[in-house]
Amino acid sequence: MNYKYIYGPVASRRLGKSLGIAPITNNLCNFGCVYCQLGQTHYIPNEQIEHFKTDEIIAEIEAVLKNPPAFDMISIVGDGEPILHSGLKDIIARIKSLTNKPLALITNGSLLYRDDVIDAIQEVDILLPSLDAYNDSTFKRINRPFGGLAFNKIVQGLEKASRHFKGKIWLEIMFLKGYNDDEVAIANFKNILQNIRYERLYLNTPVRPTREKNMLKIDAKKMDYIQKELGGIPIDFLSKEVYMGVGDNIMESLIALIKRHPLHYHEIVGFLKDKSIDNYKTVIEELDAHEDIVTAQYHGFTMYQYKKR
Ligand code: SF4
Repeated sequence: MNYKYIYGPVASRRLGKSLGIAPITNNLCNFGCVYCQLGQTHYIPNEQIEHFKTDEIIAEIEAVLKNPPAFDMISIVGDGEPILHSGLKDIIARIKSLTNKPLALITNGSLLYRDDVIDAIQEVDILLPSLDAYNDSTFKRINRPFGGLAFNKIVQGLEKASRHFKGKIWLEIMFLKGYNDDEVAIANFKNILQNIRYERLYLNTPVRPTREKNMLKIDAKKMDYIQKELGGIPIDFLSKEVYMGVGDNIMESLIALIKRHPLHYHEIVGFLKDKSIDNYKTVIEELDAHEDIVTAQYHGFTMYQYKKR
């Protein structure tokens, strides 16, 4: 059986072997980040509605957890922004009733300023919000929010989560060359971070194709400088992730992963070897010819991406 809302497990550096749940699919998001790996997102308003049936999502989760693959953690993430799903509280509660594994939520943090949203996510063990901008103009330039969402709401939300969210907070900043990596930016981040509680700070920079072309990663020297100024953990420039799909059909599992996350050639080979697929070259040829997949060269690697429609 292949699934619409569940993928992986994905072995990631931040979350271990993580089973992904995407309650929002189809690239629906209230941001249009320049570095988004999903490519073109479809804007949706800054309000929670039941974009996809909560019962359908829960039925898939129940089906997978009846006979689960090996995994360390469940992560609610998405083909879009998961916090915009109005059934999130219910989904979280049901997952917690089905497994003792830790539950993580990856979010752009746009609605954390709201009491009801903090209440909805309270049972999550690890919250992974993003903070990529340091003022309103960088927020509009990098994250390109829908409607009138102001940058101070993002900071307010992170401060509110710091005080009221009971789980751990692993904050991530995506550094983009020429956008948020100069001395002024770092000094501003330093000030903002003083008022936010976090157990971990991840320093990231793009290593995969991004929505806007020519989004440049910062170099190792700049990352060292930022790390000295802000502390935190730089995420390695090259992916070391391995993928293990939950579906039975290898090609469909691969397509489901690539749809959410462009993959390097060597990651696909790793996935196939993990599945003990001996004829992996044949599978890659099939992937090369697949109508939904395109390849591109990115920083010297062949990347497999889902074709934009
Ligand atoms: S990176 Fe995340 S928050 Fe930004 S547009 Fe893509 S899905 Fe939305």
